[in-house]
Amino acid sequence: MTDVNKLQTLKIVCPQCGKKQLRTAQWLSEHQLIECQCGTKTHACDLEQLMVQAVNDLK
Ligand SMILES: [Zn+2]
Repeated sequence: MTDVNKLQTLKIVCPQCGKKQLRTAQWLSEHQLIECQCGTKTHACDLEQLMVQAVNDLK
């Protein structure tokens, strides 16, 4: 885990449709899986990459 504030809201971008979902860092660490409205499930191994991307977007 990075040094992200657990209550920090991150934009998670669906790799399939590009839809952005807002989740807190804490939510992500607890769920390990995010499901998009298009049905695409992103697993924790990919989430870590997406989180890094989301954090970089905040800068
Ligand atoms: Zn999607």
